[in-house]
Amino acid sequence: MDSDCIFCKIVAGELPCEKVFENDHVLAFLDINPTSRGHTLVIPKEHSEGLLSTPAEALLEVASVLPQVAAAAVRATDAAGFNVLQSNGPCAGQVVPHIHFHIVPRHDGDGIGLGFRQTPVVADELARTAAAIRDAL
Ligand code: 5GP
Ligand code: ZN
Repeated sequence: MDSDCIFCKIVAGELPCEKVFENDHVLAFLDINPTSRGHTLVIPKEHSEGLLSTPAEALLEVASVLPQVAAAAVRATDAAGFNVLQSNGPCAGQVVPHIHFHIVPRHDGDGIGLGFRQTPVVADELARTAAAIRDAL
């Protein structure tokens, strides 16, 4: 547990939350500032900051319940779909430095934007970028 971490405090029961799912390794609770009704955060109970520092076992535990929790959030809110969002680092919009996966239930025409601006690039540039990533693996 990280004593400065708000989500660790929620896991420890030192701060309240609207819990929707819990097992030995994973907790899911409602986001206090929801993007849509049923906006749920799924976290490993063990503290780690982001995707790159989280042990694979903890990621597997989260992955093994994520669809079940998402399906329940969709069913409970009559949603037509959902987004799963996970941010790493302040520049990517991560505010709470305890890894979490947002489940955001979606409805047709709900107007929620994910804020990604996409621009086409030439094939050469795509190829160079792909090569750089392959080299970095
Ligand atoms: P991030 O921007 O780091 O990906 O998302 C953090 C999320 O945690 C935000 O959507 C924010 O509303 C939520 N959040 C922050 N503090 C609390 C809290 O004390 N309780 C709950 N339930 N959610 C929180
Ligand atoms: Zn934490």
